[in-house]
Amino acid sequence: MLNDEIRNDFPFFKDNDLIYLDNAATTQKPQMVIDRLTNDYVNNSFNVHRSNYMAAQKTTDAYENVRHAVAKFIGAQNDKSIVFTNSTTDGINLVANGYFINQIQAGDEIVVAISEHHSNLLPWQRIAKQKQAHLRYIEITTDGRLNINQAAEVINDSTKLVAVAAVSNVLGTLNPIEQLTTLAHQHHAQILIDAAQWAPEMPIDVSELKPDWLVFSGHKMLAPTGVGVLYGKPDLLEQILPPAVGGEMVLSVDREHFTQQQIPIRLEAGTPNVMGVLGLGAAIEYLNSVGMQNVQEHCQMLGQKIYNRLSKLDDVTVYGSTIRDTGIVTFNINGIHAHDVASALDLRGIAVRAGYHCAEPLIKALHTNSTVRASTYFYNTENEIDRFIEAINLTKEFFN
Ligand code: PLP
Repeated sequence: MLNDEIRNDFPFFKDNDLIYLDNAATTQKPQMVIDRLTNDYVNNSFNVHRSNYMAAQKTTDAYENVRHAVAKFIGAQNDKSIVFTNSTTDGINLVANGYFINQIQAGDEIVVAISEHHSNLLPWQRIAKQKQAHLRYIEITTDGRLNINQAAEVINDSTKLVAVAAVSNVLGTLNPIEQLTTLAHQHHAQILIDAAQWAPEMPIDVSELKPDWLVFSGHKMLAPTGVGVLYGKPDLLEQILPPAVGGEMVLSVDREHFTQQQIPIRLEAGTPNVMGVLGLGAAIEYLNSVGMQNVQEHCQMLGQKIYNRLSKLDDVTVYGSTIRDTGIVTFNINGIHAHDVASALDLRGIAVRAGYHCAEPLIKALHTNSTVRASTYFYNTENEIDRFIEAINLTKEFFN
């Protein structure tokens, strides 16, 4: 189990009493990442893949070393399968608008879960409409897990893509992605895993899971905002028609034509987010030193503690399974609007999120209009959870 000392690595907590339970939205940054970025801004501010003086070459090497570190972090065997994007949303849109827009035909089916974040829903809704294809949903069971039996009925030979989050950003459940991957492949469909909440909390091994696509964001795992990762099987990445064309992605240009670079550079048109990528490299180095297994165990322990404590309270509805997979817990105090609960907690120095959590179809399926979400990360402590529960009790009293 990680001990509380780990918080000392995060300058935010040094002069700040805020109990930060909005980690599914974004994470605080360790001093190591901040120091590395400061150093890179001072000493390594050069463009990549262009200039051949030594200083710029060093920055290009550092950028490509991060690609290698990302590949290793998720168990990918080929650096070419890693494309730097702006975010999870950007990665999904790249796959949708560069690949599936040219693959999906009338009558085809795209399968998503009812619990998808809007980022992994809207691109597929739009393609389905444009192509007269059908969007089909995997529902959740009463204990908030994906209904795998129904998934086996929904995924069929007309399915071209199964697009699912590994971890729900609302319910915090780890979805049965191994089974879904097998089902998709049995029907010759592809699977895209939204790992936005998975990559920050658990070890990933794509060489074992064998998804076709996988996406995540740096800022939810200690890196700066504006950098994300798309993993794709190289033969599929080769087939993406880059929605963005311009500098860096091109090999030669004449008046009428251009020829493109190889993947993955072909999919990174223009000056990339060099500092974001270097920051992501530092974040991965830091996470490796903590150990993803330790991160997973700590977050799961905190999630279970929140669940156990909340579910014992009168007039509190906690959504999802009694066995917690992650540090994300969603609930309501009956009769009090989620936004009022979040505001009351804010006044007591606790930051949580309230609303739809960018997953409106799921919130509707839960027969409510909004929820409160407490999401922990490995730097949160058991003492913070005790103070959070105390604040929930005081909030209940205040509104009664
Ligand atoms: N998918 C899931 C499951 C998420 O939780 C989020 C963000 O909360 C996203 C996608 C979108 O991530 P980003 O805003 O970094 O693109």
